Amino acid sequence: MTAALQAYAFEASGGKLRVLRYEADVRLAVGRVLRDLGVPDGADVALLADGAQKLTSTGELGEEVTAALAAGGYLVRRPALEIGGHGLVLDEATVASAASAVDGARAVVTVGSGTVTDLGKAVAPAGVLLVAVQSAPSVNGFADSLSVLVRGGAKSTTPTRWPDALLIDADALDRSPARLVAAGVGDAVAIGCSGADWLLASALQGTQADAAALVPIRDAVARLAAGAHAPGAMPALVDALTVGGLIIGALGTTAPLSGNEHLLSHILDMSAMAQDQPHDLHGAQVGVATVLSAALWDVALSEGLVRLAPGSAYPDDLEERVSEVWSRVDASGCLGATCAANVERKRALWQGGDGLAPGVLAEVRAQLVTPEAVVGTLRAWGAPTRLRELTPPVDAETARWALSALPFMRDRLTLADLLVVGGAWTDEFLDKVIARADAAGGGL
Ligand SMILES: [Zn+2]
Repeated sequence: MTAALQAYAFEASGGKLRVLRYEADVRLAVGRVLRDLGVPDGADVALLADGAQKLTSTGELGEEVTAALAAGGYLVRRPALEIGGHGLVLDEATVASAASAVDGARAVVTVGSGTVTDLGKAVAPAGVLLVAVQSAPSVNGFADSLSVLVRGGAKSTTPTRWPDALLIDADALDRSPARLVAAGVGDAVAIGCSGADWLLASALQGTQADAAALVPIRDAVARLAAGAHAPGAMPALVDALTVGGLIIGALGTTAPLSGNEHLLSHILDMSAMAQDQPHDLHGAQVGVATVLSAALWDVALSEGLVRLAPGSAYPDDLEERVSEVWSRVDASGCLGATCAANVERKRALWQGGDGLAPGVLAEVRAQLVTPEAVVGTLRAWGAPTRLRELTPPVDAETARWALSALPFMRDRLTLADLLVVGGAWTDEFLDKVIARADAAGGGL
């Protein structure tokens, strides 16, 4: 990790992320970091960990951080978090109980991967120091000011706060489970299409999007193509994920790094949760979905579908289509109603009535990688490339349904919306997308 990246972290966070360290044994320095950030000796520190064992070369990460804090003179409390069949789920009850468990602490320290870090950001009040000790390179959501929370059964990305310090323990990362590492790669490769969705959305909603802001993340992710066994592979992955988080934090939105591939992953989560079934890691799903998203762009561009006739708008039966899609997993209509409200916000923001401005197509194309390139990087890290390779596997019928649901879930506009507006979002089109992904070695 370069000094330039640390300086960027300070700048991107508006001075909030003051300490960013990626070092072997940085876990043992946590007491010193707290002291340097002004937490006095004897202060009460709440430590949040998700309960999973996280090995280092000398022990268990949570235990070692606890011991390091105690040795530094702090009074450490470790409230028990509610861990259910889906692991740690940040629903309303869990967040409220964690918030009361850390009440009164001078500092909150999280130890773990994405979910527990998001919990810390959600419950550490302003004025209470927050230190995140990262245990795995599983997701890009560490170095940012957002948390993915579950509200009303649906995941939603919520503005929370920056950590004051992010300590990435190289020793723990080198021992983190292979599937967490592969998931991080899956989350990172999303930039191969998400930037295109973001630029298109900006053009159709009249918002500002600076393609140049994505150059650092595109460069960092390109280094991952060399694979898990290349020299400097783990530092390259850490850089890619950290830069990704910082860009999200700096821009205040996940949109540049979260297009159709993330929607597909969220749909799989919601579908599994509605049916009380397990689902795979966020990044594992996102990586596979990126192959499909790259195929979607490829087919749409090669068939000349990335265009818009002046006066085009969402179809009149949009709300019915949303309800119909979600009735498959939730007969109560509850998810359908939540998603219909989301989609209605998207419709209200539509400003595509004049058609696509000249130049948008070229700008979008410049952001895209091929499905083959996505598959190549995923394979080079041993990550799944097909939905049926996920744990548990996603069957072909569910996969087709999830793909068809892309424009009918959130208020985030992507290529799928343009195709709905243009009347091209059909079963026949989705068959071509699936075939294109399959030819590249991924998809279903
Ligand atoms: Zn992600």
